[in-house]
Amino acid sequence: MSVPHTPDCPRCAGDAVTTVTTSPVPGVWEVLQCPRCLYMWRTTEPERRTSRAAYPALFRLTEEDIASASEVPAVPPLRTR
Ligand SMILES: [Zn+2]
Repeated sequence: MSVPHTPDCPRCAGDAVTTVTTSPVPGVWEVLQCPRCLYMWRTTEPERRTSRAAYPALFRLTEEDIASASEVPAVPPLRTR
């Protein structure tokens, strides 16, 4: 019995991609997620969203990009009247 192939992450090429959910009708699609960059995609999306080779170069990430990413700004306190 062969192990099903899980693709590398289209955005960061991470190889620990997990299946988040599957189609109500079995075998139609899966939603996959990369735990490294949190990119999530459905397997029926176009190649440019599901394949590392076809993913736009401008939006690709490397492990170094992720490690050096700036902190997400905190949400400021609510304004008072
Ligand atoms: Zn990724």
